[in-house]
Amino acid sequence: MDYRNITVAGSGVLGSQIAYQIAFKGFNVSVYDINDEVLERAKERIIQLKPRYQEDLAATEQEVNSAYDRISFYSELAKAVAEADLVIEAIPEVVQLKIDFYEQLGKVAPQKTVFASNSSTLLPSQFAESTGRPQQFLALHFANEIWKNNTAEIMKHPGTDTKIFEDVIAFAKAIGMVALPLHKEQPGYILNSLLVPLLDAAQLLLIKEIADVETIDKTWMVGTGAPLGPFAILDVVGINTAYNIGLAKAKATGNEQYEKIANLLKKEYIDTGKLGRATGEGFYKYPNPNFLKPEFLI
Ligand code: NAD
Repeated sequence: MDYRNITVAGSGVLGSQIAYQIAFKGFNVSVYDINDEVLERAKERIIQLKPRYQEDLAATEQEVNSAYDRISFYSELAKAVAEADLVIEAIPEVVQLKIDFYEQLGKVAPQKTVFASNSSTLLPSQFAESTGRPQQFLALHFANEIWKNNTAEIMKHPGTDTKIFEDVIAFAKAIGMVALPLHKEQPGYILNSLLVPLLDAAQLLLIKEIADVETIDKTWMVGTGAPLGPFAILDVVGINTAYNIGLAKAKATGNEQYEKIANLLKKEYIDTGKLGRATGEGFYKYPNPNFLKPEFLI
């Protein structure tokens, strides 16, 4: 792996975090987005990451400033990728938008450039042909708050070259990630393939009135040694996201239990402002939730 110059396309929530993390680890980063106004907002978003790195990673002022100085900003794609060894795409989760982007990118990027998608729900084989270089394309999926939640799920599609797969795994490690290779395509990658069924099962136990929130979490924590139960995890994910997933599942499956879950989340949590950890209350009250009290596990 001899990647030095990395381009991040899309400078929103994840793109700005990815760009800053890579620069923090000493690589040259070009950020590409659709216009200068959006790029100005990205600059502000990235500058706001500096104190987070100082607080969470004990980074020095010099380190956080020189990371920022390694980032350049472009609204012209050809310029943004002129030197790129790797382009990481973090544009909105809209299929046609990504197809159009990859068609354009394939035309202007140097032949050597590898493309990686940060898409959470779409599969690389949906875009492989549009890139014009399917063997140099795969998924590289980060989590929100990348500097703390440092997973990188690296997923091949059937046409990805094995050498490229290995290079991207090495790159993920070089930027401070725990690299998690997936040898075949899997919707939801590894993490959500494990987590979503657990969270679903917990909510079904609740809606069927089999047990209450704290008993369900306690069972999981005592039974497996996990630090959080499923409802404490839902507080981290955010009740709005859980509600949207419940609604989508109700529509897709016609299962009225999912509709009941969505209704419960809306009435008792969203409508009362209990949106999860970010708002100080969800299934638990923060900063001192019951599940952290020693008597919870007795
Ligand atoms: P976002 O809406 O915050 O940012 C998207 C950015 O892409 C915006 O700055 C927008 O101006 C830009 N953009 C739009 N069209 C573009 C184009 N044609 N070319 C270049 N840039 C363009 O979105 P996000 O939450 O950062 O998500 C981006 C991708 O990352 C999605 O595929 C999403 O699934 C994935 N992802 C998001 C999260 C998350 O927690 N937000 C986590 C993991 C992965």
